[in-house]
Amino acid sequence: APVVRAVNLVKIYQTGGLPVPAVRGVDLTVEAGEFVAIMGPSGSGKSTLVHMLGGLDTRTSGEIWLDGKRADTLSESGWAVLRREKIGFVFQFFNLVANMTVADNVELPALLGGVPPRQARERREYLLGELGLADRAEASPAQLSGGEQQRVALARALANQPRLLLADEPTGNLDSRNTRDVLRLLGKVHGQGQTIVLVTHDARVASMADRVVSLLDGQIVDDGAIPKSRRRP
Ligand code: ADP
Ligand code: ADP
Repeated sequence: APVVRAVNLVKIYQTGGLPVPAVRGVDLTVEAGEFVAIMGPSGSGKSTLVHMLGGLDTRTSGEIWLDGKRADTLSESGWAVLRREKIGFVFQFFNLVANMTVADNVELPALLGGVPPRQARERREYLLGELGLADRAEASPAQLSGGEQQRVALARALANQPRLLLADEPTGNLDSRNTRDVLRLLGKVHGQGQTIVLVTHDARVASMADRVVSLLDGQIVDDGAIPKSRRRP
């Protein structure tokens, strides 16, 4: 089964009694190991779409399937379990736990997901090392720069080796050095088989993807595979 599948997915926000259609009938299938970039102008529904795929926004209608199982009908707690076991998130507004060290922030999801402590520690060391954060492991999030915090959020999202990585503008606020570290790690985990669905405005980020899905006014207007020969390493 595909890792994630949306069928005729619709989201209509109600603001002050007025319906605001954000996602209007999206069909999207992402196979294991695929790296899909979601692009499109501001307000085209990108964030709403990836939030729904992770159960962070409710849908108005349509279906969401994760790993062959219907997910849109799950309760809040059902989604919570699914997220803990299968989904890693990176958003621009990362919620690192303030009173825990960087190391514990990254390790926690793996431990909660049932990864043995020793393996969780090794995974954490690997991810922090890849992101140039090894020397920040014992710091608290408040001691980090925004770019460092965002890298920690990526490490945390990957700690559990999630079936699906969902990212919303993971390089949105980063300077070029931070962006380079994040892109290098995304490329590396993708090479290791990680399935990624990522919202981006950045053509450099999109050029790493296998497919670019373009949204306009809540609908997919283009869904194209990028020939391997045109992909950037
Ligand atoms: P994008 O990520 O492409 O910028 P969004 O998914 O954030 O697009 O927004 C799609 C549409 O839904 C926009 O018209 C936006 O104003 C609207 N929207 C997003 N979030 C909300 C919300 N919480 N309440 C009402 N309208 C919203
Ligand atoms: P092949 O040698 O079979 O043509 P590639 O060298 O294109 O394969 O890719 C090797 C691995 O790296 C594959 O798992 C592929 O998914 C991944 N990969 C290829 N291009 C990129 C890229 N631009 N960014 C990240 N990962 C990539």
